[in-house]
Amino acid sequence: MIFANFEKLKNFLETPIEIVIIPHQNPDGDALGSTLALQLFLNKLDHQTSIVSPNDFPDFLKWMPKSDEIIIADKDFNSAYQAINKADLICTLDFNHFSRTPILSSLLQKSKSSFLMIDHHISPDNYAEFQYSDEHMSSTCEMVYNFISAFGEKKYFDKDIATCIYTGMLTDTGSFKYESATSTSLRIAAELIDLGADKTDIHRKLFDNNSFDRFKLLSCCFKNLEVIEEKKTAFTFISNEEKEKNNFKKGDTEGFVNYGLSIENVHFSTIFIENKEEQMVKISFRSVGDFDVNQFARKHFSGGGHKNAAGGKSLLSMEETVKRFREIINIEHP
Ligand code: 5GP
Ligand code: MN
Repeated sequence: MIFANFEKLKNFLETPIEIVIIPHQNPDGDALGSTLALQLFLNKLDHQTSIVSPNDFPDFLKWMPKSDEIIIADKDFNSAYQAINKADLICTLDFNHFSRTPILSSLLQKSKSSFLMIDHHISPDNYAEFQYSDEHMSSTCEMVYNFISAFGEKKYFDKDIATCIYTGMLTDTGSFKYESATSTSLRIAAELIDLGADKTDIHRKLFDNNSFDRFKLLSCCFKNLEVIEEKKTAFTFISNEEKEKNNFKKGDTEGFVNYGLSIENVHFSTIFIENKEEQMVKISFRSVGDFDVNQFARKHFSGGGHKNAAGGKSLLSMEETVKRFREIINIEHP
């Protein structure tokens, strides 16, 4: 474990303190699984904990243990403010720049508390005294497994913690298929099953729980799909109108970008999704092989992420954004 100041943190956690745990904006299975697992563990050490999420999370994650107690900052800013202000320790999980929690970033910047970062994205900012950052990890959940293990092997694990960690590992590795899922990740997954994670039930709750509206939205994604064969690129988009027509709910477009990569000879897939609330086009990029979508997202679309999975945004209209994308692809992608 590449961990800055681990012994000091262990000492710090010897007496009960107030702790707040924060996932990134639009939390996914890994962000939520890791924050919940860490909270359940810290509660066992008798700390006072709360999770503050910048905004709400998708319904398909709402079954997760204790997820109903999460404070949603954009719905209840007062509680979020109080939790952060009184915290002795602020844990930021599955992100490494305050810009990934826009609504909380100025609060975090001003805070005098100690920070713990557990994260697997590249180029971490330098705000955490206690830092476990490793871009080679499959998921933040796998890191939380290592973190809890470092406190006492299997002593602190239970069914709920195992369930949360398994969920994040599963969702962040495309069901263990991405290169980032190593043989160690699979050994940990096996341990988690032995510790009580019900793999069949978790899988069903995450993936076999679609609304019919979501399927209709998926059909828009297919209708709008374009393949640029010579660039091995597929892209599609979903407009506000299509979202509204199909009663869009948070999380409904999760995973849509991956379909592009299932087309033969396509190595790079992109989806543009209009977001009325945030007045932007949110973009997801996925690749297989060497094409580095993290660099691509950073350079052109104010984003980032990992080599094969990244996100970004555009403040232009959908039409202008797609036009710009075509121009970039023409020059840059082989
Ligand atoms: P997704 O496409 O599923 O939203 O995100 C894929 C990956 O890219 C995730 O690891 C996510 O944290 C990261 N990511 C998504 N959007 C952004 C962004 O706007 N900025 C940065 N730095 N990372 C992002
Ligand atoms: Mn993650």
